[in-house]
Amino acid sequence: MIIIDKEFGEVIVRKSPLSRGVRFSVSTSGRLAMSVPKYTSDFLAKRFLNSNRKMIREKLPLKNPNEQKARDYQKKVLMKKAREYLPYRLEYFAKLYGYSYGKCRLSHANTRWGSCSSNRTISLNIGLMKVPEALRDYVILHELAHLNHMDHSRAFWAEVGSHDKHYKMHEKKLKMFSPGI
Ligand SMILES: [Zn+2]
Repeated sequence: MIIIDKEFGEVIVRKSPLSRGVRFSVSTSGRLAMSVPKYTSDFLAKRFLNSNRKMIREKLPLKNPNEQKARDYQKKVLMKKAREYLPYRLEYFAKLYGYSYGKCRLSHANTRWGSCSSNRTISLNIGLMKVPEALRDYVILHELAHLNHMDHSRAFWAEVGSHDKHYKMHEKKLKMFSPGI
């Protein structure tokens, strides 16, 4: 559910059987998110919001409503670019080096560039479309190598290194960017 608030813009309300109290956080879009117990009425949710206004203003790094909209737009653009590029780039390297993966998923998590799950699904962050190509390729090769090594062992890095001899530098440079949008 979404509450439109004069000060914070769109506020995401998540009703969860697991929450016992009210918790405020910042969503990946920079919007205020609140999780409340499942049977909390909208009226009560708004009351919680009002009584915590000062704390939210002071403690949570929210984006203002205009920035939230700008971010939505940027995400849409990146998603479109990513959809037309990342799955094909992944397929290209997989074919080149003889990997077979399950699905390719596009993600927009704030913290990781990519992941490889035990069912061989490779997730790539759409934020990769913002970084130089060499780093983007490095992330793809990194995730492909996880198909054979589900850890960061020596054998894993040796495999990454066999496809990208500058992987150490790329790993380091990647830290200068953030996957979040
Ligand atoms: Zn890894």
